[in-house]
Amino acid sequence: MKAAVLHAKDDLRYEEYPMPIIEAGEVLVRVKATGICGSDIPRVLGDAAHSYPIVLGHEFSGEVVEIGEGVTKLKVGDRVAGAPLLPCMACEDCQKGNYSLCKFYSFIGSRKQGSFGDYVKMPEKNAVKFEANVSYEQGAFFEPSTVALHGLNCLPYRGGEDVAILGGGTIGLFTAQWAKIFGAKRVFVFDIDDGRLELAKKLGADITINTLKPNFKDTVSQLTQNKGFGFVYETAGVDVTMKLAFEIAGNKAGVCFIGTPTKDLVFTPKLFENMNRKEFTLTGSWMSYSAPYPGKEWQLTAHYFSTGQLKFDESMIFKKLPMSQIKSGFDLYKTPGAVKGKILLIND
Ligand SMILES: [Zn+2]
Ligand SMILES: [Zn+2]
Repeated sequence: MKAAVLHAKDDLRYEEYPMPIIEAGEVLVRVKATGICGSDIPRVLGDAAHSYPIVLGHEFSGEVVEIGEGVTKLKVGDRVAGAPLLPCMACEDCQKGNYSLCKFYSFIGSRKQGSFGDYVKMPEKNAVKFEANVSYEQGAFFEPSTVALHGLNCLPYRGGEDVAILGGGTIGLFTAQWAKIFGAKRVFVFDIDDGRLELAKKLGADITINTLKPNFKDTVSQLTQNKGFGFVYETAGVDVTMKLAFEIAGNKAGVCFIGTPTKDLVFTPKLFENMNRKEFTLTGSWMSYSAPYPGKEWQLTAHYFSTGQLKFDESMIFKKLPMSQIKSGFDLYKTPGAVKGKILLIND
């Protein structure tokens, strides 16, 4: 088979690669579509790869082409999305169902061979079946959708409140949709790009706020009658939105950081004090799993994609490339701000 093998920093080669051999309880999947995740960028262009050589790729869908001994829930021909985490299933965190917090995990696409190739293997339970009315391209969006839903539920989320989503990237757009599905009064999406905000509207956001507008904070105060938001989800991982989360949270609000920070973050005492004064609850969110593995994040993504309540729009895809051109996909990330949305790699 062919795969994109990372040999060293910025040395990605599409070349011959040994076919995975499945063991009992595993399935072999022909990769149909796979996304480039923000977390893959430092692995390819920086020094964040776990080891070399490695085949990355953890947001993917495909068709089951072979099943191992003892596989009972899947058959050849099934359409599946891959849940990439391989938790140890034995440690205290795993026994409690907090698989994302396992310290003894492996991961398809960072420690084990991932989906940037023709085929990838995984345990049966990591392959989440979806209906024929969900496309393979949509199937590659399961992972980001589950990250969003896991984040939503890291707070005791409930409907009937105004919800702020900071960042209109792929995770932000899914978080906005999940907030709406579970009964938000109004969902506000904040971003710096009007195109992303337009897409957020199309996917069901009630109000969009461009944070480059000088008076946007006044607009927000007016729209929320100075009360701020009952729930704030930060999905960009940049200092502007992480600080903004503290400013726009309402009294007794829930604030969740889903985005992963990449730079030092400095809070003034006054800004930090918002947490005291408003008695809001701050938490973080990590990955997308719950018990029974891989969790309701995955089952609900399959369900709501199939019913159409969780919307997918072609414009969530920034660019589609054949897998063989993966290097040009990563090269686009060398120009800051050039990539707006998901780059999908397709195997025909
Ligand atoms: Zn990812
Ligand atoms: Zn564990």
